[in-house]
Amino acid sequence: MQPRFCHRCGHALTTRVVEDGHARPVCPACGHIIYLNPPIAAGVIAQREDGKIVLVLRGENPGKGLWCLPAGFMEIDETVEQAAQRECWEETGLHVVTDDLLGVWSYFHREKGTAGVLVVYTAHIVGGELRPGSDSADVRFFAPDEIPEEQLAFSTHRAAIAKWRSNAHRAAIGARVTPSP
Ligand SMILES: [Zn+2]
Repeated sequence: MQPRFCHRCGHALTTRVVEDGHARPVCPACGHIIYLNPPIAAGVIAQREDGKIVLVLRGENPGKGLWCLPAGFMEIDETVEQAAQRECWEETGLHVVTDDLLGVWSYFHREKGTAGVLVVYTAHIVGGELRPGSDSADVRFFAPDEIPEEQLAFSTHRAAIAKWRSNAHRAAIGARVTPSP
């Protein structure tokens, strides 16, 4: 969403093409130029010892009634890893520790005209008790072949899960073809 007022002086903003050639919101009173950048969301593929991962059934839009990874927007006072761990705790009741970076996905929302970035880590569970958070309808563990592909909420989450499954698949094949010492 485009800002309407200058957050420095409160004056109404106008749009002007600035030095870098982009049309940007500009304050005619104090000259402040607003640079809009995409929000960063962080999430986890949190795996239990039996190989199942936790998914969240969304209770609110966007994606109400569909499943997604525990994930959410980074706060200004935390790292990406902390955001991923906090979001998992808030949405699932599970304490996790991030392991490896699985990948970074971005998207462009045509209707809103805004981009976003999702960073996903693999993580392991270190405590807590499974319970849905305030905007989740349910939380559940799924084996890789039980994940409801057709009922996943976001393309970025689908891509992250697909990469994780193909990594797991390759690791399983690697384990089979590696000769024992
Ligand atoms: Zn201003």
